[in-house]
Amino acid sequence: MFMGTVGEAANKEANRSLSEKKPTVVFVLGGPGSGKGTQCAKIVQHFGYTHLSAGDLLRAEISSGSENGTMIQNMIKEGKIVPSEVTIKLLQRAMTESGNDKFLIDGFPRNEENRAAFEDVTKIEPAFVLFFDCSEEEMERRVLNRNQGREDDNIETIRKRFKVFLDSSLPVIDHYKSRGKVRKIDAGRPVEEVFESVKDVFTSKNEKAD
Ligand code: ADP
Ligand code: AMP
Repeated sequence: MFMGTVGEAANKEANRSLSEKKPTVVFVLGGPGSGKGTQCAKIVQHFGYTHLSAGDLLRAEISSGSENGTMIQNMIKEGKIVPSEVTIKLLQRAMTESGNDKFLIDGFPRNEENRAAFEDVTKIEPAFVLFFDCSEEEMERRVLNRNQGREDDNIETIRKRFKVFLDSSLPVIDHYKSRGKVRKIDAGRPVEEVFESVKDVFTSKNEKAD
């Protein structure tokens, strides 16, 4: 109980300094296998952002043996969206620990609740949203060839993840579209071609557009 209170106070403090820093945040969204991680690695090299993948942070939390690990593992196996307080805490911690002030947040927000909770807790609004648009057929091919030993890269879980993406994540993209914040990229092309379009977004004055 006492520890919980101290932890919460520390968390609030870390969060206040995070919101005061007003970091630049770009959300990177797209279906599973659309190439978010691949393109983020290239953006990091060229534009000095720090890449935070919600999926990678959750997988690291499982490996660390955290008390939430089993719950997270079961949800990932089912392609379900992990409760936002878990994901938001991991993102906040990673942002606070990084010395940087520019972040690519990949695979988040995954639903409207994620989006509203993040804005509410951190008071951070994204500068813009990169949306990797790719056909399901191509995404399925890529994920089945990914070979990273992921428990969710099997055909049964992939189909569930596609459904979650369509039902829960596309509405988030629509929300930002109505605010003029979405930069849509045709992600069905080869990696270097996709990156040419990505570079255009980051080098144009669109980067800071409202
Ligand atoms: P995401 O992070 O969106 O799930 P990844 O970046 O992990 O997607 O890409 C999924 C797989 O597809 C990886 O094996 C990656 O090497 C491959 N890949 C990524 N982008 C492309 C592309 N433009 N064309 C072909 N394969 C790609
Ligand atoms: P990814 O690595 O982005 O493909 O994510 C893999 C899985 O992690 C998803 O299918 C979800 O189960 C979980 N996950 C990733 N990002 C989030 C998020 N923002 N909120 C909740 N669950 C997530």
